[in-house]
Amino acid sequence: MDGKIHAVIGAGTGVTVAQSIGMEPVETAVLMTTGIIAALVPDLDTAGKLANRISLSHKMIQGFVRTTGIITGAYAWFGLSGYAMYIGLALGVFLLLIAPKFSQKLMLFVSGAAIIAAGVAMMEIWVWLTGVYVAIAALVAHRSYTHSLVGLLFFAIIAFYIQERFAMEGLFWTLVLAYASHLLADMRFVPGNKRGIKLFLPFSQKGI
Ligand SMILES: [Zn+2]
Repeated sequence: MDGKIHAVIGAGTGVTVAQSIGMEPVETAVLMTTGIIAALVPDLDTAGKLANRISLSHKMIQGFVRTTGIITGAYAWFGLSGYAMYIGLALGVFLLLIAPKFSQKLMLFVSGAAIIAAGVAMMEIWVWLTGVYVAIAALVAHRSYTHSLVGLLFFAIIAFYIQERFAMEGLFWTLVLAYASHLLADMRFVPGNKRGIKLFLPFSQKGI
């Protein structure tokens, strides 16, 4: 399912939760935004908008490593001699070779690790749990664990701590229902979803 459709359903979820507890417009807007974000979270396992937003641009990193490789090689060639030149050239070539390895998934994983570190430093449980989620999402296949009941449960634990931290009514349910709406919208019974999701991982690999 397209990210835009998930976002619209997530927004609707937030507004519905806000309406059901009789919220003011400002709080409704907060829950609507929360719903949009939560509905996009499961697709952190693929190169989507949200993944791009929270991770360093892998293209930028690749460009930086490549440029450093070229400068190192040129400096070694023109400025050094003997062993130092060979080491410099080898380092330049090495950097050029590893530049393409900085994939979006790797950068997302690094971002997850950074969020964990920040959460531990801030002593905020929901922050480091979010980091764990992001790091795992970077490692697993698309439409696997983040699109399963296990993923939903893990996200519900994060949502519980977010609710605790910000003490705003409706946060927990907006987060959980918006996340669940993503899984529903990705299921096979919805027209256009050929693959479905592996809802019962790790117990079953079946696409639902
Ligand atoms: Zn999805």
